[in-house]
Amino acid sequence: LVSRKKKPENTIVELKGERIGDGKPHLVFGPCAVESYEQVATVADAVRGKGLKLLRGGAFKPRTSPYDFQGLGLEGLKILKRIGDEFDLAVISEIVSPADIEVAVDYLDVIQIGARNMQNFELLKAAGAVNKPILLKRGISATIEEFINAAEYIMAQGNGQIILCERGIRTYERATRNTLDISAVPILKQETHLPVLVDVTHSTGRRDLLLPAAKAALAIGADGVMAEVHPDPAVALSDNAQQMDLKQFDEFMNELRSFAFAR
Ligand code: PEP
Ligand code: MN
Repeated sequence: LVSRKKKPENTIVELKGERIGDGKPHLVFGPCAVESYEQVATVADAVRGKGLKLLRGGAFKPRTSPYDFQGLGLEGLKILKRIGDEFDLAVISEIVSPADIEVAVDYLDVIQIGARNMQNFELLKAAGAVNKPILLKRGISATIEEFINAAEYIMAQGNGQIILCERGIRTYERATRNTLDISAVPILKQETHLPVLVDVTHSTGRRDLLLPAAKAALAIGADGVMAEVHPDPAVALSDNAQQMDLKQFDEFMNELRSFAFAR
């Protein structure tokens, strides 16, 4: 169902007037984790200030260590819903349990399925059973074929509103957190009709590589870029080495717009 052979024209996922998959770049920013209303509101205000409409923030955080901050859970979803309404933004957040998919529908504009859950087939089926766009991230060690099959699981249940997200894969290379598989973007665009985003934060894991990776993503044909922004990354409860502060976000946007939006 996700194959370009079955449906030659691009699938477009519409969110607050942004049409992801229409050939223009769409940008998603927001903190790694929802920590408080004020923290998310500060970023939401900056995002709106740039004329953008898409906000991310994790409420259920799948952390490598059980002792790390696990997210605010439902409370985090409530904060996102309030922010989305107040700032007129589409809000995106990860759900990790099939049982929470139905609940999430009331709070989110897009349900994210994270890298660690790309082959959680019960979660994929639950996501396929609701009428809500799904942002599906590539698994840490998933082949492109496995990634496409994960999207197929969702669409097979009837939900065709899927956005794919390349977020880097695990290789022997340690200079970056993961290895951004940039050629996955045109392959996914050729083989499926779904929009493709690139998460430059979790792929590189390096603040200094966010802008060049974003430029590469748009140059190779991605439908957009996702990156993390936090009012004060030094005190962030997760991913404090790679989130941008508001000043860097401003510079990032200026540079990316002069690179990509002028074309
Ligand atoms: C995230 O986007 O918040 C996240 C945890 O990313 P990933 O699942 O790609 O690691
Ligand atoms: Mn993060």
